[in-house]
Amino acid sequence: MALLGSLPSALSCKHRWGYPYLATAVAAPEFLRQIGCARPNESGIPLDHSLHEKYSRQTLFAPIGAEGQERLLASSAVIVGCGAIGAAASALLVRAGLGRLRILDRDFVEPSNLQRQMLFDEADARDALPKAVAAERHLRAMNSGVALEGIVADLDSRNAEDLLGGFDLILDGTDNFETRFLINDFAVSTSKSWIYAAAVASYGLTMVIRPGVTPCLACLLESEVGRGLEETCDTVGVLGPIVNLIASLEVAEALKFLTGRETSLHGKLISCDVWSGHFQSIRVPRNSNCRVCVRRDFGYLTGEVQPHVTLCGRDSVQIHERSRALNLDSLRSRLAATISDLRSNDFLLRFRIAPYEVTVFADGRAVFKGTTDPAVARSLYARYIGA
Ligand SMILES: [Zn+2]
Repeated sequence: MALLGSLPSALSCKHRWGYPYLATAVAAPEFLRQIGCARPNESGIPLDHSLHEKYSRQTLFAPIGAEGQERLLASSAVIVGCGAIGAAASALLVRAGLGRLRILDRDFVEPSNLQRQMLFDEADARDALPKAVAAERHLRAMNSGVALEGIVADLDSRNAEDLLGGFDLILDGTDNFETRFLINDFAVSTSKSWIYAAAVASYGLTMVIRPGVTPCLACLLESEVGRGLEETCDTVGVLGPIVNLIASLEVAEALKFLTGRETSLHGKLISCDVWSGHFQSIRVPRNSNCRVCVRRDFGYLTGEVQPHVTLCGRDSVQIHERSRALNLDSLRSRLAATISDLRSNDFLLRFRIAPYEVTVFADGRAVFKGTTDPAVARSLYARYIGA
């Protein structure tokens, strides 16, 4: 092939792909396979001949360009929590052409999620699909070229290394500060960058945390500027526009980081309120006596800090009494003898014991709706699920 001969042999695939003429008709799949640029999708058909077109509007943006896109295609990220922010952030990253994405979530889709969680639909809520499973399905339909992995799990000190290790970047999609401090401990202790993102009511915050370069989450929350930011979504509600705005700001920073444009990271805490129209960009100082990034006290990661048991704004308690997996089929058979209101899918089992509704996951967790008292939930767990 004549064109092949015109390419300097020392050029990497990345640089070859950056040549605009590869977007023309001569860039046939067979040719791309020969120069080692083929990247098969699920059906085994190389996509690289169309990658230039597929991401053309993003590569036309000069700060990213073809080289940045190649870096993004080779990069990986893990999103912890796939609620509103996690769902929007994962969709933006997958559409942008991230190489590999893991989505961690412990929860299932409910009708009350659909007002703001853009990735899910009524069928997901009707089937009570785990968010990680539903997210993976919807994301795969958006971009089959991304290696996707939805994992139904509750991030804790015991599984943090397994679930978060090996990714270029960690994104916050959680709804509680215990998990954020656990991510922060893991990130600082392993020198891994992560992006904090949170929203409640009409107000949201986001900041990139790069260990050794920027302040960490503990620096922020123990500083003057961080005071009062500990609020989580409970009874005040949350608007769709703020979670999607915060997710967009989070992903903009993720794109800079993953395309190798670290010098473009603004390095500030962004605070915004879509109701008042108040937007702020705040330079957060490092805390010279920070528990995490200075004193290196990783209490959340070592398990010294007890994990949360109540679920944000849900009148629910999560209990995880077992360290081993549950056989949902045998549990269903056992419960069916005494409980009539029993439903299940491939991922969870749900039953009602008035006034409580219990949802049991295969990893041994159970969510008890109708109480915020862990003692009540533990008692129900022991009685119906077993130790
Ligand atoms: Zn710190």
